[in-house]
Amino acid sequence: MLKIEFEEPTESRCECCGNTTIRLTRYVYKDNNAFAVYYASFTKGHPEKRLSGIIGLGEWGDDSLASEHRVAFPFQIWLKEDNFQVGLIDKEKSPWSHVTFLGKILDRESALSHKWISDVFHITDHMVVDDKEIADFFE
Ligand SMILES: [Zn+2]
Repeated sequence: MLKIEFEEPTESRCECCGNTTIRLTRYVYKDNNAFAVYYASFTKGHPEKRLSGIIGLGEWGDDSLASEHRVAFPFQIWLKEDNFQVGLIDKEKSPWSHVTFLGKILDRESALSHKWISDVFHITDHMVVDDKEIADFFE
């Protein structure tokens, strides 16, 4: 069972249009153990509703463990005919391509063949339902 811990969102101005960009940091627990961390960002008022996100999976328990024990999956979520679409993207296309905390960032092809990819989609399924900021954005 997954449980999400919510941080206060941060807001900034979108450089392209001046609308509000929301950034989220979330901690995901599985059976009360630290399981994943994700970041998400989206801008209200863009013509297409599209979320950028990245999920880091791996070892979180011990701070002395470096981020090489984690793997990060960058992706986007958008709507197509009322259905959520989740697409993995290459590292260089991610706004978090220089972030190391979440682990080694995978390109799309490596992500799709990774043994943890089902966990990624499990978390994105929860994001669009349990994460109120995200659910409200797509409503
Ligand atoms: Zn914009």
